[in-house]
Amino acid sequence: MRNHIKKYGIMGGTFDPIHVGHLVIAEEIRCKFKLDKVIFIPAGNPPHKDFSKITSGDHRYQMTLLATISNPFFDVSSIELDKKGVTYTIDTIIELKKCCKDKAEFYFITGADSLLELSTWKNVDQLLNMCKFVAATRPGFQMSKIETKVKELESKYNQGIYTISVPALQISSTDIRNRIKEGDSVKYLLPESVESYIIKHKLYLENVAKGCL
Ligand code: NAP
Repeated sequence: MRNHIKKYGIMGGTFDPIHVGHLVIAEEIRCKFKLDKVIFIPAGNPPHKDFSKITSGDHRYQMTLLATISNPFFDVSSIELDKKGVTYTIDTIIELKKCCKDKAEFYFITGADSLLELSTWKNVDQLLNMCKFVAATRPGFQMSKIETKVKELESKYNQGIYTISVPALQISSTDIRNRIKEGDSVKYLLPESVESYIIKHKLYLENVAKGCL
């Protein structure tokens, strides 16, 4: 029997907090690309963000675990959270590839906004060589801007980039944080277990990020 090449989705995001939109995207892309697994990787300390404003990695990791636990095709990795200093996607992918004993294809899944900045990422040509890039867009997103960007990136790096529009991505982490701060309901926007976790740990009540658990 021929060896089956494993296909892994690598779901990179801040997940502050993880919500139903992320889960629907991951599941949709898993089915569309026939992925064996989707590994959620809460971002460590990417170069473009002020991480003092972001909820601690421990909380984001726990919420991601709670949200994904019921899906046997979903895993969570703390690979970036365990690192000190700035984390770059290329280093994460290289490390993950080393951990795979068998040949594997990687699909890096993230928000379409990331495409606009992709040229500035560390070793982007190597990154696009090592994994297929799947960018999820929100309804109402300026598709023409994204399509132009995709064409530009594809011809510059000679690699295909996939875009996928998922209605549930109308939900956003920023909106959820604002709703909690204003005392508005977030029911059904995220899994109940994640909502309970947020309530228990009093997350997102203020603008300042909460410390470690
Ligand atoms: P972000 O700026 O927080 O998010 C950009 C947009 O994409 C937001 O609308 C966000 O919605 C959405 N989004 C984020 N992750 C998503 C996902 N997996 N699926 C669908 N939509 C998603 O971006 P980020 O979360 O910090 O970074 C995304 C990934 O790119 C991370 O893995 C990060 O490490 C990586 N990155 C790498 C570099 C580098 O290597 N140089 C630089 C920048 C980013 P929500 O707010 O609702 O999630």
